[in-house]
Amino acid sequence: MSQGLRVTVWNEFIHERRHEAIGKMYPEGIHGAIANYLRSTGLVAQTATLDMPEHGLTDEVLNNTDVLIWWGHMAHGQVSDDVVNKVHQRVVKDGMGLIVLHSGHFSKIFIKLMGTSCNLKWREAGDKERLWVVSPGHPIVEGIGEYIEIPNAEMYGEHFDIPEPDTLVFISWFQGGEVFRSGCCFHRGRGKIFYFRPGHETYPIFHHAQVLKVIGNAVRWAAPNGGPVVTFGHRPEPLEPFEKVDPLAALDHPSLTD
Ligand code: ZN
Repeated sequence: MSQGLRVTVWNEFIHERRHEAIGKMYPEGIHGAIANYLRSTGLVAQTATLDMPEHGLTDEVLNNTDVLIWWGHMAHGQVSDDVVNKVHQRVVKDGMGLIVLHSGHFSKIFIKLMGTSCNLKWREAGDKERLWVVSPGHPIVEGIGEYIEIPNAEMYGEHFDIPEPDTLVFISWFQGGEVFRSGCCFHRGRGKIFYFRPGHETYPIFHHAQVLKVIGNAVRWAAPNGGPVVTFGHRPEPLEPFEKVDPLAALDHPSLTD
């Protein structure tokens, strides 16, 4: 059923080109590593990066994307508001899925969709992380055990300033003692959004089999489901005909005047 779903993996693609060790870990970029995995599971995956015209997210690309994956960190401010507005409309009006990874919590598109600061605590000290599954029946954790363990990770700690998730799928524990809501589902308009925490650029997290599996599951969960296109506003003609009453004449109804 999910065969043929079209995914675009977006990455600012700066760390990999600026730091040799990160470039070696992700020779095709973080976007390339994720896209290669998704292709191996039967999805159609393309990539887009900040330095491309319109950041690679032209109307044509967006209109042919079922689910967009977003990784950004140091260049959130360089993403054009026009592109952010177009992505926002694709999510809320057309139901394009959006998966926001790790430091994408501070991306313009995530903040716009959440309406909060999306701020958090952080530490770069190689903490061990355990992501505990707290929604065991959820499609995003299909094939995942009770928890995912990441040997070394950047710590993100509560409080994470997001609206209450519609479904919380993972809670992370960190070696240093903090906890974090690390897998959060949201609905906005017709669209589904999944925030997934792992993914700091200096660790090989996008080579971790279970992290990749969750991303693939999330693509299938977030894909548009063909639900109705909603129309808003004035609706003068009711579905069932009845004798209309003038709103002002209704004020004279006996039940209001005795
Ligand atoms: Zn990070």
